[in-house]
Amino acid sequence: MGGQGDVAIIGAGITGLTCARALADAGLRVAVFDKGRGPGGRMSTRRTDGGLQFDHGAQLLPARDPDFAAWLADGGHAAPWPGQHGWVGRPAMAAIPRAMAQGLDLHQGAAVNRLIRRDGLWHLGGEGIDHRAARVVLAIPAPQARDLLGGDDPLSADLAQVRFHASVTVMAALDPDAPRPFVTRRGQGPLAWIAQDGTKPGRAGQPLTTWVVQADPDWSMAHIDLPFDELAAMIAPLLLAELGARPDQLRHAAAHRWLYAQAERPLGRAFLQDDARGLIVGGDWALGPLAEHGWASGRAMAAHLLARAS
Ligand SMILES: Cc1cc2nc3c(=O)[nH]c(=O)nc-3n(C[C@H](O)[C@H](O)[C@H](O)COP(=O)(O)OP(=O)(O)OC[C@H]3O[C@@H](n4cnc5c(N)ncnc54)[C@H](O)[C@@H]3O)c2cc1C
Repeated sequence: MGGQGDVAIIGAGITGLTCARALADAGLRVAVFDKGRGPGGRMSTRRTDGGLQFDHGAQLLPARDPDFAAWLADGGHAAPWPGQHGWVGRPAMAAIPRAMAQGLDLHQGAAVNRLIRRDGLWHLGGEGIDHRAARVVLAIPAPQARDLLGGDDPLSADLAQVRFHASVTVMAALDPDAPRPFVTRRGQGPLAWIAQDGTKPGRAGQPLTTWVVQADPDWSMAHIDLPFDELAAMIAPLLLAELGARPDQLRHAAAHRWLYAQAERPLGRAFLQDDARGLIVGGDWALGPLAEHGWASGRAMAAHLLARAS
């Protein structure tokens, strides 16, 4: 992954992809790097060999900004979740970022772990990565941006103000005849959110009933280091109790850990920038805890870069 371009974007979640699309549409040479196997970051979908799928990151996208609602409606890969107040990707949350990534110069499985400015250019390094760009966009969670830039970077103090909470998320599947008393609900004890994932549009035809459960931030942080199977074994009985289902009706339970799930103390402005160095840093955490905030941050970063380019 060698080369040189106008802008390098690190992070192919909704923030980085929104920014990348606007810059590429304006004719800039943009390369996007993401350490994940596919684009999307926290707007992600887990599939199992048994034909199940779960949105185990973002659940339901509120669209308070009418522009964001219009963008979701126009893309053809999102739909309102009937009875809920928001949108979801169709047929999976990951369908939204996958569609956004079409046609972009996206490098997947590309973890950038060195970022150095030399002779007026940013040099990106990592395993198999040797890329240069005049400007760089960091579209990754603030703590990870701080790690990459280093604690003595001038933007580091502002990045350190941002706080995230963690989320332990469990994906469970039950027999079709198991009770399904609700679509979404806040649960008892540590269960912050329970959703019948398979009721989202475009998910019909799965062999089992699929549920996604998020533990609350305190419980998640206290248990974040436990192995996945232990986490699943702790949360699954609580889900069964909420549903009034029997243990023998549980067919699948797997856990995922999000150390940086959602911002609980955002930055309060759309991005941080250092124009002299050609550096701009943003994400959902700049404005709030939601995908909508990442989209707004990505859009604002692109507008800032384009204004300076013209
Ligand atoms: C459990 C959970 C539930 C949520 N629920 C909701 C919800 O219901 N509604 C809602 O609107 N939002 C929700 N969110 C938040 C939503 O997912 C985020 O706001 C949004 O996805 C953030 O997008 P982003 O592009 O800013 O960051 P991310 O999606 O985190 O993207 C950053 C990308 O950068 C990559 N990356 C990081 N470091 C590097 C590196 N060094 N090199 C290369 N790549 C790197 C990562 O792989 C990732 O793909 C939830 C999040 C979680 C985790």
